[in-house]
Amino acid sequence: MKSNESNLLGSEQSAEALDAADPIAKLKQRFELPENTIYLDGNSLGALSIDAKKRARDVIEAQWGKDLITSWNKHNWIELPLQVGEKIAPLIGAGPGQTVCCDSISVNLFKLLSGAITMQPGRCKVVSQKDNFPTDLYMVQGLQQQLGADKCQMVLADEDKIESSLDENVAVLLLTHVNFRSGKIHDMKTLTRLAHQKGILVIWDLAHSAGVLDVQLDECNVDFAVGCGYKYLNGGPGAPAFIYIAKHLQERFSQPLSGWMGHRSPFEFSPHYQGSEGINQCLAGTPSILSMSVLDAALDVFEQISIKQVRTKSIGLGDYFQQCLATLGLLNEFEFSSPLDSNQRGSQVALAHNDAYAICQALIECGVVADFRSPNILRFGFAPLYISYGDVQQACDTLKHVMTNKTYQQARFHQRSTVT
Ligand SMILES: *Cc1c(COP(=O)(O)O)cnc(C)c1O
Repeated sequence: MKSNESNLLGSEQSAEALDAADPIAKLKQRFELPENTIYLDGNSLGALSIDAKKRARDVIEAQWGKDLITSWNKHNWIELPLQVGEKIAPLIGAGPGQTVCCDSISVNLFKLLSGAITMQPGRCKVVSQKDNFPTDLYMVQGLQQQLGADKCQMVLADEDKIESSLDENVAVLLLTHVNFRSGKIHDMKTLTRLAHQKGILVIWDLAHSAGVLDVQLDECNVDFAVGCGYKYLNGGPGAPAFIYIAKHLQERFSQPLSGWMGHRSPFEFSPHYQGSEGINQCLAGTPSILSMSVLDAALDVFEQISIKQVRTKSIGLGDYFQQCLATLGLLNEFEFSSPLDSNQRGSQVALAHNDAYAICQALIECGVVADFRSPNILRFGFAPLYISYGDVQQACDTLKHVMTNKTYQQARFHQRSTVT
């Protein structure tokens, strides 16, 4: 351990006391979690919301089953992408009319990258970070292949070189707010400002931020953003993502996936595409109503709380996790790959170990679900809506057991599955 050791060993409170004082503890009841499982992977796939489960049944049995096609009007299916966008907006500090729910992050990035580059004639570089989530980089590479390197050219910078990579040839800065491995948070406001000073448009990927960090897109003057529906928003596997475009850019922006749902008046069936003026122009094809309805219902849990409360608990859980690791003497077993200061990291902690994969498998067998990220990261995600301080303590006790008894060395824990 290098610095901040005193933080880790600060005043110890019992998990019971912390849970008793937690103002959002009761939200755990709105989720269905398997028994004898501590689920520390909500950063990859959010838990099953009971509201979502009810809605899934209703959408299938009543809306689709009985009302069939009339549901587009009767149950407002046609408004769902905007409605869900507006539910997400307050969680990311976005005023109305700037957020819409659709497609995946990957597809949404293609729309934004392509539209943003078109707005920047004479500039071709897209600066991103070497250890950004790969799909973000792959989408730039695909566009580069399509447009040619004179129109779109990816430049990858190490984290400490991002600022110095920003010059007048850069069209777009594409960054993920919270690093998917380390959990380190970028300073959104400063980086956006520095980019704007050079005339660069900025796209933020909020995959590990939306629903757990106090994101302030409008206040940071962000141009574009995308985020994930199935992580901290609990929309279920493959839930649609969302897209944000600052109001003042919407008129100048146009995206290439000009499908009918983004048309100004889709039901006129005109042979000529005319994109909608507002955020709706980001839509392409028919939305996946089952999945989007489920996400819509899952978002209701945020109605009674503020995102600041969620973030406060997220920091509390991370701090408590560190404290338990220290108390149990586990910090020497791992390299702490996340920032030590929980204000500097998202809602996850990454521990590096040569046997991280096997340790993760051994933990899962003991009922503690974490995940592994290549090459050597054991990642623990703390979803504040349904993880308690007691859960964190139990997870640490289990980790202690796995490390002390070296159970992870058994051969069966070293067998790799496709999804890790
Ligand atoms: C999870 C994640 C994605 C997922 O992209 P999809 O296309 O929606 O599957 C993208 N970016 C980051 C940073 C992620 O963590």
